[in-house]
Amino acid sequence: MKYISTRGKAPVLGFEDALLAGLADDGGLYVPESWPRLSEAMIAGFADKSFAEIAVDVLHPFMGDDVPRARLQQMVEEAYAGFAHDEVTPLTDLGDGQYFLELYHGPTLAFKDVAMQLLARLMDDALIRRGARATIIGATSGDTGGAAIEAFRNREAVDIFILFPDGRVSDVQRKQMTTPTDANVHTLSVAGTFDDCQALVKGMFNDAPFRKEMALAGVNSINWARVMAQITYYFVAASRLGAPEKPVAFSVPTGNFGDIFAGYVAAQMGLPIAQLMIATNVNDILARTLETGIYQTDKVIATQSPSMDIQVSSNFERLLFEVVGRDAARVRAMMGALAQSGRFEMQEKELALTRALFAAARVDEDATIEVMRDFEAAHGFQIDPHSAVGIGAAARAVLPDNVPMVTLATAHPAKFPKAVMAAYDAAPDTPQRVLDMLEKEERLTPIANELVAVENAIREKARLV
Ligand SMILES: *Cc1c(COP(=O)(O)O)cnc(C)c1O
Repeated sequence: MKYISTRGKAPVLGFEDALLAGLADDGGLYVPESWPRLSEAMIAGFADKSFAEIAVDVLHPFMGDDVPRARLQQMVEEAYAGFAHDEVTPLTDLGDGQYFLELYHGPTLAFKDVAMQLLARLMDDALIRRGARATIIGATSGDTGGAAIEAFRNREAVDIFILFPDGRVSDVQRKQMTTPTDANVHTLSVAGTFDDCQALVKGMFNDAPFRKEMALAGVNSINWARVMAQITYYFVAASRLGAPEKPVAFSVPTGNFGDIFAGYVAAQMGLPIAQLMIATNVNDILARTLETGIYQTDKVIATQSPSMDIQVSSNFERLLFEVVGRDAARVRAMMGALAQSGRFEMQEKELALTRALFAAARVDEDATIEVMRDFEAAHGFQIDPHSAVGIGAAARAVLPDNVPMVTLATAHPAKFPKAVMAAYDAAPDTPQRVLDMLEKEERLTPIANELVAVENAIREKARLV
């Protein structure tokens, strides 16, 4: 499989090169040059297969000869062995055609583990075979950093450095990053905000000599392999509900559009998806775009579902590339307008194609708390605020009769104790492994909000010479 950039001016790459590159060097995002199709017979067979078996069938077509099937199978089995549930992503029947897909049984209690655990193994494997090493750097406002550290800790060919804003992440989030003791894990606590951390990471990538010297690599959600790894659970859930004969709808708590774009890809691969509901909090740029055709950024508002507090949804560019008929010049024009004036307009035809599969609903702060309460009263267990936005949006979907609606539950409530207190007037039910982690000793490096200081610290600590 070859990978092309949504902006059409970057080299065409194979799977592993696209995996290691992350962003394309024309500023675009890599996508496969065509969508592989799975046969109806294969999809029907998924009903009796495990998560890991389905993952190999769904993901291998994207890798071709770069990754032999047997090696992928081994990596997939290892990646998901650490999940706290046998089924990896269990599906709970809520009654009335509503289902709840629990994506939060991984080591850091959020769905990002599903992709990150596999991505880390794919990257490490590719680097080892090339006799190369890489230094992963990333900035986090909370969830991504922990998931990346859990996935890359102890990987042979990689050192990982995560920058987080000092005092601005929750206790659970910070300890997930600072308690691993592996020699290749480094957490830098920056005297600044999340935006400062992001600017530092950008500064390091833009420092060409440093970038080369340290073999920098990124793992944020624009990396194709992260989106790809999320396709599996759409097939898992739908096959449990009668696919390929019966169509299924999904409601997806959305920020950067990576998770829901994986649903779009599943549909292109032959999974009958009746609707993909974009569930947003009050940062509703995507809901506004679907309504008006105008994509216009606004100020980011801090909410109880912080992992969706985003104004520019990077992965939306991958959908735009599809609905403009893969016309890279048109994507360049839209992204140019966005960079220049903070907005672009979709044409009627492009909007119609988007609306053919996607719907959107915005769930505000009060409604989120209300959904959390109602859910617990009806089903007897707590949910986190991101998943609540998904449930709230699912309730507003207009679907043909008998089409089941699956809400993606993206985080465990124990990760967001403040919102849980507000909704339930009680502390979250916290898994024992998290309670144990909270007792462990922390290891972190406080650092000034200065590029030189951060680069020096990374040079000094990285195992790569
Ligand atoms: C990252 C995240 C999201 C948003 O996912 P995208 O792929 O960025 O749309 C939703 N919920 C939780 C808990 C997250 O961590």
